[in-house]
Amino acid sequence: MRIQSKGFAIFSKDGHFKPHDFSRHAIGAKDVLIDIHYAGICHSDIHSAYSEWKEGIYPMIPGHEIAGVIKEVGKEVKKFKVGDVVGVGCFVNSCKTCKPCKEHQEQFCANNKTVFTYDCLDYFHDNEPHMGGYSNNIVVDEDYVISVDKNAPLEKVAPLLCAGITTYSPLKFSKVTQGTKVGVAGFGGLGMMALKYAVAMGAEVSIFARNENKKQDALNMGAKHFYSNPKECKEELDFIISTIPTNYDLKDYVKLLSYNGELALVGLPPREVAPALNVFDFINLGNRKVYGSLIGGIKETQEMMDFSIKHNIYPEIELILGKDIETAYHNLTHSKAKFRYVIDMKKSFD
Ligand code: NDP
Ligand code: ZN
Ligand code: ZN
Repeated sequence: MRIQSKGFAIFSKDGHFKPHDFSRHAIGAKDVLIDIHYAGICHSDIHSAYSEWKEGIYPMIPGHEIAGVIKEVGKEVKKFKVGDVVGVGCFVNSCKTCKPCKEHQEQFCANNKTVFTYDCLDYFHDNEPHMGGYSNNIVVDEDYVISVDKNAPLEKVAPLLCAGITTYSPLKFSKVTQGTKVGVAGFGGLGMMALKYAVAMGAEVSIFARNENKKQDALNMGAKHFYSNPKECKEELDFIISTIPTNYDLKDYVKLLSYNGELALVGLPPREVAPALNVFDFINLGNRKVYGSLIGGIKETQEMMDFSIKHNIYPEIELILGKDIETAYHNLTHSKAKFRYVIDMKKSFD
């Protein structure tokens, strides 16, 4: 039996968010039905809703920072029971048999079967478009569900499912540790998490933000330095993570890397203004490495969740209602937002 759901959908790239009734596929043997309590607003939601990367699939219900409680389980479910607190992130299925899937990097499924949480077809359910977390419930294969301690503050857990893992993963990959000099470019939802994790790992962190008003927040969260322009920075950095969602000059940051330094790109600006590196700049700045990073696999997402809860690392959030989504999008694209908006889904349909 299909599951009746309600959410907030956008119907075209220049359209508006409206309440939308729809249905999800039935609960399969290995699926769980999750009652969604909170959904974070990631800047990727905005890029997708407005077709800034590719032509979106409409109607679209974004949201891939999902926190909630299990309401029902399929008959072969082993990891979860009704009442468990859980999270769902950027993808909800994949082939499970290819090399990347077997190596717990399901976001890179070699058979192109990663089912992203929204703006993607569900290859395992008749190619119907998958709907995201700005909704009251979701049905997900248990292998793609993250377990959350029942005492964790659930509204703050939601953003960990994307902003958390996307920043935790490259910090670990580049082996950030005690004394590493880290730069974080872009100080919004992802940038704030990168700062908190890097500080917890013992790094000395410099924040690069365009909004001077966030300087005190950065220092309060443990940053050593704050720059509103990368050209002001005179020190060398071992590792930089760029979370910037707009056009910028990437070379300004590559230049700041120390010998053997690494720069992880996670920010994905609209396609038509995406920054590029000239091959000459790249080679003349040898011994520096630049790589892209895409969220993180399920195993690492669970590790990130446990690490965050153990070290009490949570995002700064502002709770809003479903009717406020467009205002939040406006603020996030006009330098008016602070860190993470989280939609209180339970209160949004009253
Ligand atoms: P937010 O909007 O929360 O934060 C972005 C921050 O970047 C804001 O603080 C903004 O400043 C700042 N900023 C914008 N332009 C510049 C600039 N030119 N120089 C310095 N700072 C700038 O976005 P998110 O943190 O949610 O997402 C960031 C990016 O990461 C997006 O492109 C998103 O799609 C991408 N992303 C990628 C993932 C991956 O797996 N690779 C996963 C998740 C997200 P201000 O405060 O003034 O607005
Ligand atoms: Zn995201
Ligand atoms: Zn696969």
